[in-house]
Amino acid sequence: MHAFAYKDGALCCEGVKLANIAEAVGTPTFVYSKKTILDDVAELQEALAPLGAHVAYAVKACSNKAILNMMAKMGVGFDIVSGGELWRVINAGGNPTLCTYAGVAKTEPEIRYALEHGIYCINCESENELREINRIAGEMGIKAPVAVRVNPHVDAHTHKYITTGTNENKFGVDITRIEELYATIAAEMPNLHIKGLQMHIGSQLTEVEPFVKAIQKVSPIAAKFKELYHIEFWSIGGGIGIVYDGCLASGQPEWWAARPEQITIRSYAEAIIPLLKPLGLKILIEPGRRIVGNAAVLLTRCVYEKKGEAKTFKMIDAGMNDIIRPALYEGYHEIWPVAEHKGDTITADIVGPICESGDFQAQNREIADVKPGELLAEMSAGAYGFSMASTYNSRPLAAEVLVDGDKWHIIRHRQTLEQMVQGECLPE
Ligand SMILES: *Cc1c(COP(=O)(O)O)cnc(C)c1O
Repeated sequence: MHAFAYKDGALCCEGVKLANIAEAVGTPTFVYSKKTILDDVAELQEALAPLGAHVAYAVKACSNKAILNMMAKMGVGFDIVSGGELWRVINAGGNPTLCTYAGVAKTEPEIRYALEHGIYCINCESENELREINRIAGEMGIKAPVAVRVNPHVDAHTHKYITTGTNENKFGVDITRIEELYATIAAEMPNLHIKGLQMHIGSQLTEVEPFVKAIQKVSPIAAKFKELYHIEFWSIGGGIGIVYDGCLASGQPEWWAARPEQITIRSYAEAIIPLLKPLGLKILIEPGRRIVGNAAVLLTRCVYEKKGEAKTFKMIDAGMNDIIRPALYEGYHEIWPVAEHKGDTITADIVGPICESGDFQAQNREIADVKPGELLAEMSAGAYGFSMASTYNSRPLAAEVLVDGDKWHIIRHRQTLEQMVQGECLPE
């Protein structure tokens, strides 16, 4: 449950009026609720306690230092996908020995950096990569901890750009080849320590069923690897979905009661615990979106409106450079006025300032008939929001704010124009 709601006509995050933040730091600004994040982490930890499961937060969903630091203090580990993310985790006070390292194209400097810092495990995606890590570990005179990502070929029923667990994706090693590959590691790669097994079937899964299917399919292999190679852990990946359509209402318990099919941390845990417990392996989960997705909004301001022949457009000061999800994979975000409206709605496209037709946040959407100058909140913007932002069209990166009860703190200053061009230079 998140902490965004109208109070006396003003949209608030916890005890803070969003309008006050906009006045102080301007727009566009990402506003995160500390309580929402900490509650969700605690709920996951508690729900999976019967498995002794460990949460490895997927840093790429939202990698602000203040947010990583909050999680590190709760004993959370981190699932990283680059040397840069590992650097961020260490810089934010996280523990590299609780980190797993995923990704299909890790480079030699990244692999060395992770091994030097005692990474918990490198989750590999190809035989080539394993051989490279074996070579590097040999040079370093160590045994590198590795797991392989198995692709269970299960349909995650999610958008095609964020499904990862079928044999048409670039990720992982096909389930039909995984046993042969582990045998090859054991026989031919003496500098690797086979530490576990990993999978991740996709993102934004709104039902429990694909998780159950994948676990059932891979369980016999995990059990076999425990026997043969004494693996210590099985990471079952991330992917738990959040509410986008219905986000504001989902802050209330009644919303959930009316939708028993929507995945919750509880229904996820209840479905997977009986399947995993008998294996006696340490279970890792790698949630990203589920922890931060509903925990933030993007505060933006309506700049102009235009009534065309066919459509009405509301132009806002946030663009696809600030949040690319609608353009990249048809991501849906609710958009609410910060000052509550009563009744007056209009069907409009909410579009940004970027010179691209793909720069929209909503199309043909029934929303409050906001006027230029009014503030809007784009909901569920915490995951794959700021972390995917760019300066396209030379728009400095947005500010980020963390709300804690009735206080708020800047956790990233808005980028200045000078900072935006830092690093650029004329040829000698
Ligand atoms: C992106 C990713 C995750 C997190 O996915 P969410 O849908 O945000 O939970 C977990 N594991 C791996 C390997 C990933 O690439």
